[in-house]
Amino acid sequence: MASLISEMEIGQEKDRKTLPGPILLLGAPGAGKGTQAKELVKLWEIPQISTGDLLRANVAQGTQLGQAAQAVMDRGDLVPDSLVNDMVAVRLSEPDTIRGYILDGYPRTLNQAGWLDGRIAGRPESLPVVAVSIQVDYNQLLRRITGRRNCPVCQTIYNVYAKPPRISGICDIEGAALVQRADDTEEVFAERMRAYAALTEPVVEHYRALGRFAEVDGNRPIDVVVAGIVAAVERLRAL
Ligand code: AMP
Repeated sequence: MASLISEMEIGQEKDRKTLPGPILLLGAPGAGKGTQAKELVKLWEIPQISTGDLLRANVAQGTQLGQAAQAVMDRGDLVPDSLVNDMVAVRLSEPDTIRGYILDGYPRTLNQAGWLDGRIAGRPESLPVVAVSIQVDYNQLLRRITGRRNCPVCQTIYNVYAKPPRISGICDIEGAALVQRADDTEEVFAERMRAYAALTEPVVEHYRALGRFAEVDGNRPIDVVVAGIVAAVERLRAL
């Protein structure tokens, strides 16, 4: 009996170590966090939590948060920490996050990182955070951002240079006219990069120092980058 219980405990411990748990995808605007997160969602069956998507949904619905965030987002600055942390708190309390989640675009400041670390530390059942930073060259980022177009119906992401739709400006799946985000222009990109360097690079250094951290070369094809992230997470989960 005793050996059966210990075998069960070992099994549970093994499961715990192999669960995806909380994963952070870090990287500059255009690094491919959203694209990679969508692939990882299919693989691990845990939700992608993109603060950019949540904020855009609030803007579209005209909520109080959306009204407060829209102008800040349109000029490429960061939405105040307290608003974003409250929004993330609500999302993380949903039951689909129990086995883990992929945070995409959060945390973006040391204050947000401190809030998240405190929340996870307060839940002993949660695995520790694993952070993966996706590295992409500046010119590649610029091409990805200024070329990006989205389908407003199915949210498929195209790129006029790298992944154009069959008919220019039209979604292959829905036939809807593609749209460009207001903050995907070259001027706003420059501002977003300034915000990234000043406020988010310290977050990358914070997680690098904590140890469960990896860098992945995001200049390569999507499937190669996904494989790199999966390998990094498996290695870091086993620590
Ligand atoms: P993204 O879709 O991740 O590029 O985010 C688009 C915009 O939403 C950013 O430029 C910010 O204005 C805002 N935003 C998204 N995530 C955050 C965050 N964690 N903290 C503050 N602002 C954010």
